[in-house]
Amino acid sequence: MEKEVKKTDIGNLGEFGLIERIKDSTVTRNPGTKKGIGDDAAVIDTGSNLMVVSSDILVEEIHFDLSFMPLKHLGYKSAVVNISDIAAMNAIPRQLTVNLALSNRFSVEAIDEFYKGISSACENYKVDLVGGDTSSSTSGLIISITAMGEVTQEEVTYRSGAKENDIICVTGDLGASYLGLQVLKREKAVYLANPDMQPELSDFDYLVKRHLKPEARTDIIHELKEAGIKPTAMIDISDGLASELLHIAKESGHGLNIHSDKLPIDDLSFKTAEELNLDPTTCALNGGEDYELLFTVDQNDYEKIKYLPDITLIGYITAKGGDARLVTNTGDAIPLKAQGWQHF
Ligand code: ADP
Ligand code: MG
Repeated sequence: MEKEVKKTDIGNLGEFGLIERIKDSTVTRNPGTKKGIGDDAAVIDTGSNLMVVSSDILVEEIHFDLSFMPLKHLGYKSAVVNISDIAAMNAIPRQLTVNLALSNRFSVEAIDEFYKGISSACENYKVDLVGGDTSSSTSGLIISITAMGEVTQEEVTYRSGAKENDIICVTGDLGASYLGLQVLKREKAVYLANPDMQPELSDFDYLVKRHLKPEARTDIIHELKEAGIKPTAMIDISDGLASELLHIAKESGHGLNIHSDKLPIDDLSFKTAEELNLDPTTCALNGGEDYELLFTVDQNDYEKIKYLPDITLIGYITAKGGDARLVTNTGDAIPLKAQGWQHF
């Protein structure tokens, strides 16, 4: 009898475990490959400036629901989430490629709508669509985008650069995209139960917009440059603040403390979280899809950073080998846990 080879369930590894496994089995052969797997984007030394490259995949029913996601917004968002990874390297986005797998349930007009969104993002972020690939699909829409950007050797910023006493900063506000999604799901359920009911979304405009049409914070990259600040580490918030903080802690080898009363949460997010029986702090920590930037700066930049608009200082990097902790209103320090998204 043939011996059965034991197969491991992907769920045992999880997304980050799987990536770690691929990373461990990967060999880098070219000296130009400065950074491979393990940051927001790969960094390639082209001889003058560095090129950064990042890919993301979006799968129907896992990453988006076409019943409330207009295709134009989906195109825009698909481009933005990749541009955001380029910004997270302190780089300027330049080009995109778009790969699509689609079934014949999509009309030409529907695909036109999707590309209107891509084109609008290209215009807003001054990037060029330079190619891609198209295939048919038997299981819904799959979008894979690669973004390329440019940064100097001096300015490139990794997740690993944080050092003790650096100030932890975050842009914009957190949790709104997740709450927008909860509102959209609630209205969808109401509609499915009673198709005569019209969705009540106008009170939640800001949250819904944050979910359907997020923006990448390339403005912050320019603002920091103008202010003469070079972040020591940076990452964009796609999986949730807690998860991204743990990446910075792990890659830099340092601990960190953030303060729950410092987390930037919009008033409408607060109100809506309470209405939905959710804890606003948990939404800010674990909601995800904010596409804000999380970065650290040297203590010496405090005077410069404190006056910049739309940036909140939420804590400090602590000693090497320390824990990543959330300091609550009552002064307790609890270890951060990444909830993020469980794909498997
Ligand atoms: P982000 O949330 O910023 O998009 P990810 O967690 O998706 O980052 O990816 C982290 C790192 O792992 C990146 O360097 C990415 O290129 C790499 N990575 C993710 N999936 C794969 C894969 N299937 N094969 C090789 N590298 C991967
Ligand atoms: Mg990222």
